[in-house]
Amino acid sequence: MRVETKCIQEGYKPQNGEPRVLPMYQSTTYKYDSTEEVAKLFDMAADGHMYSRISNPTVDAVEKKIAALEGGIAAMCTTSGQAASMIALLNIMKAGDHFICAGNIYGGTVNLFNVTLRKMGIEVTFVNADEDLDTLQKAFKPNTKAVFGETIANPSMAVLDIEKFAALAHNNNVPLIIDNTFATPVICRPIEYGADIVTHSTTKYMDGHAVQVGGVIVDSGNFDWTNGNFPEFTEPDESYHGVVYSEHFGNGAYLAKARYQLMRDLGVYPSAHAAFLLNLGLETLAVRVEKHCSNALEVAKFLEKSDKIEFVNYPGLPSNKYYDLAKKYTPGGCSGVISFSIKGGRENAVKSMDSLKLAAIVVHVADLRTSVLHPASSTHRQLTDEQLIASGITPGLIRLSVGIENVLDIIEDLAEALTQV
Ligand SMILES: *Cc1c(COP(=O)(O)O)cnc(C)c1O
Repeated sequence: MRVETKCIQEGYKPQNGEPRVLPMYQSTTYKYDSTEEVAKLFDMAADGHMYSRISNPTVDAVEKKIAALEGGIAAMCTTSGQAASMIALLNIMKAGDHFICAGNIYGGTVNLFNVTLRKMGIEVTFVNADEDLDTLQKAFKPNTKAVFGETIANPSMAVLDIEKFAALAHNNNVPLIIDNTFATPVICRPIEYGADIVTHSTTKYMDGHAVQVGGVIVDSGNFDWTNGNFPEFTEPDESYHGVVYSEHFGNGAYLAKARYQLMRDLGVYPSAHAAFLLNLGLETLAVRVEKHCSNALEVAKFLEKSDKIEFVNYPGLPSNKYYDLAKKYTPGGCSGVISFSIKGGRENAVKSMDSLKLAAIVVHVADLRTSVLHPASSTHRQLTDEQLIASGITPGLIRLSVGIENVLDIIEDLAEALTQV
């Protein structure tokens, strides 16, 4: 099946006479006929649901759909994108370990890595992802356990050279973890370029309607956890009566460990209702993403022509620094997100944003309604103008999330607002 078909058909396969639509199994518990059968679940000798902090049939169907979309062997949903990033890393690192991360990524992830994981004793080095392999190699340490990056970075719109990052990780026997939130598997499947683990904030395009925060981790099944760098996979887990994940679960060891260990202990599993809503979003993901991409490209071209605009960041524009990487990794389009800077700085940015009628000011991106955000007065408010420029955010920068309304209405709204400055 192609990606458009998988969005609709994968995950839930009703048998004769069963509901056509994925049912919402709003149940925390599961009934068994004997203590013996429950014991088998706890021994991991049988498959089945025991408690909805660890798995649930509705969530399970959505996990299977997302795994199929990304070309992975399994997936595990989480309550947020933040939880997905956290578990993806905690599953292979402990205090004293180190990992490498592309700079310029989502601010929430930067905080998680730079503040909270550091407090837990896990150290990160942020690198300039555009450097060559030899320069990037210098960031490696004997205790480096992973490499992390975003396919299309939020909000810088930098496109990652995934194959280069996969080479960097694999030359050092560690996995590459890719946050594929902005691209979605409709326009890029990082596993095809060597990523080992893929994460998402499903809150964005996958949900697409701005109704439910969520995340997911997908395992390619390709990484060799028995290479000597990851003893937690090859030594008995005493908290699970001595199971050795790599032996018991083969190439499914990564997510089995994440689920039975970390999900059990941290409890960030989504509800059946959350998964039900996510599934509705996934069913239309392919058509929505195509429309977001084509609308955004037209809007980016319009903005680039305006004499009120200082610059436009959209990798689909031939003038963009990442145009060639985008042609390779996201040939179907570059998502609906554009950042652009208005001449006249903060004052003109605020003035034009406040005059928008269709595009709404919201702290969100990547849903079907066109929206805008002014990073300098919201997400990056604590920074001085000098610090803003150093982090690539000019005082006049606006993050525009192009929706799937008629593109002429979106452009007319922007054109009208620009006459105000
Ligand atoms: C929003 C976002 C996250 C965090 O996801 P939440 O669902 O908000 O927790 C992580 N990565 C990227 C690229 C995002 O855009």
